[in-house]
Parts: sequence; C-alpha cells; structure tokens
Amino acid sequence: MFLLFMIDILYPSGELILPYLLRCKGFAVDNHSCILCALHLRQPQLVNNPGKILILMIQEKYMRGIFTLVVIAIVAFILAGTFSCQGDRSMVKKSQAWDLVNKWKIHDPDRPQPPVVNPGPSGPPVPSPSDSIVLFDGKNLSLWEDTKGQPARWKVEDGYMEVVKKTGDIRSKQKFGNCQLHVEWAVPAEVEGEGQDRGNSGVFPMALYEIQVLDCYQNQTYPDGMTAAVYGQYPHLVNACRPRGEWQTYDIIFHRPRFGVDGGLTRPATMTVFHNGILVQDNVELTGPMGHKVRPPYEAHPDKLPLLLQDHGNSVRFCNIWIRELPETNE
Ligand code: MG
Repeated sequence: MFLLFMIDILYPSGELILPYLLRCKGFAVDNHSCILCALHLRQPQLVNNPGKILILMIQEKYMRGIFTLVVIAIVAFILAGTFSCQGDRSMVKKSQAWDLVNKWKIHDPDRPQPPVVNPGPSGPPVPSPSDSIVLFDGKNLSLWEDTKGQPARWKVEDGYMEVVKKTGDIRSKQKFGNCQLHVEWAVPAEVEGEGQDRGNSGVFPMALYEIQVLDCYQNQTYPDGMTAAVYGQYPHLVNACRPRGEWQTYDIIFHRPRFGVDGGLTRPATMTVFHNGILVQDNVELTGPMGHKVRPPYEAHPDKLPLLLQDHGNSVRFCNIWIRELPETNE
C-alpha cells in the first residue's frame, strides 16, 4: 500500500487510482471509478476486469514516474555539467593570467625593466566628454573627502590639487564600478628622493586596485611598482614617463570583479591603461586588491566603490579628472 501511495503522490492522476484501490480493498466504491480507469487506459473492454485495470494503472503510473525522474535527472546532469564547465573555464583562464604574475616574486627587482618610450610633449587638458562626470575641474574638492568621510585637506591652487603630506588619501564621494577614467597628474619638478620615494601616489579604482603614480623618468625601482604598473602585479608594458614637472595623463578602462552569491570570485577585475596616450596595460586580469609585499586575495565587495587617490608623502599634483560609467555587461 505504501508503494502505491507513493506512486499516487508522484503521479498527479491519483484521483483515478485511489478510489479504485479502495474498491479493491473492499471499501464501498461504486463502479464509476472502474469505468473512469478503463476509459483512461483507453481499454473500455476491461471495465469488468478490475484486477487487470489495477495492474495496468500501476504500470502506467510507475512508468510515467520513472520517465519523469529520468527526465529530471538528465536535465540536472546537463545543467550541472554546464555550470561545472563554466567554472573550469574561468579557473583555467584565471590561472593562466595569474601564473604570469606569480612567476615573479612580488616586487622582484630581477623582473625585466620595460623599455623606455618617449611619449612626446604634454598637450592641453583633454576635454571631458558630455556623458562624463567631472570629479575635479581645478576649482575645489567638493566632490572629494578623506577616508573617514571628512573634508579632503589636499591643497587646491592654480587649477590643480596637490597632496599634502600626512593628510591621508582622498576619495570621491560618488561610487563607481565599471568605468573609463581620465586623470592628469604631475610629480614635483624638484627631485624629492629616489626609487619609490620619488613622486609616489596612486590611482585606485574602487579604492582597492592601484595604478601606480611615480616619477620613473630616469628613475628605476622594482618593475611591478613603477609608473603605470598595476602595483605588485603587472609592470607597465613600456616606460612612457615625461620629465618631472610635466603634466602626464592616465586613461584607464576598469571592469570590476564579480562575485557569486556565496561571495566567491566568479570573474577577476580587469584594467587597460594608456599612459600619455601609450598602451601600458592591456586588459590584464587582477589577482586581487593592491598590497605591499603581498598579493592579497579578493574579498567580496559592493558593485560600486569610490575612486581613491593616494597620499604617499610626495607632493604629487592632479587636475582634470573625469570619469565615464560603463554599463554592466556579461563580458
Ligand atoms: Mg603608490
């Protein structure tokens, strides 16, 4: 009885078989159920053969139940295989890119120095497109704050902002995800130090992923920390620095990382960067947020976060900062 009851649950035409079973067990059920079952089986000649009807009804219900279960199993298998393959492809792609990074120790001084390319002289400020958000037009820091949410304390004069040492990083009040970002910057005309101490700052999409700002004009340091490097991960393809004091440009295309509902990484962030109009990062996959002497893993974060500029203790200047939000795509 239990088996038959389960079959009845699995198969929704139970309204036909249950009355019939009751009849077989000696309950008072009229012949209506017997006729219904025979018609359902399209064998009206069996209307007076309840035993045969019972067997056929059970067979039909049982086979349909099995068929339904097989179909469900096949669909589940196909879906599982599809998602599994996608995961594998993602991991393969990720590991190929990240192996390139991990082939070198972080800040490895033996990593090859990218070749020097003369980008030519600086030009006038690049006009902001009509669909861009101008984050700094040289007048004030009203769209910026420090990392505690207090007013930014960097100096603003003559159309630029300048890092004031030890006032801390500043970030945009507005938050962004995928974006095209234009930044103009200049390191002090006077030599302040050497290596990482010469004109150090940084541009951080989502306040986490750094494109290094540094004076690497005739100044060498570890390649994954030089001008236009994705700090700690990818050296720039070429060294396109202008001399100290001259205005330089970054044009950055950034796609945010993606995380699954469980917080796991499903797609790494990517960056393409032009330094003074020259390609220096070609759609690289980031291994995680910026770290010094460490490559930290991703941690799930919101889809939009502020843009951050770094106070590294050098008097770096910025001007003409605009950003275009890019649509969320299924890339
Ligand atoms: Mg920096």
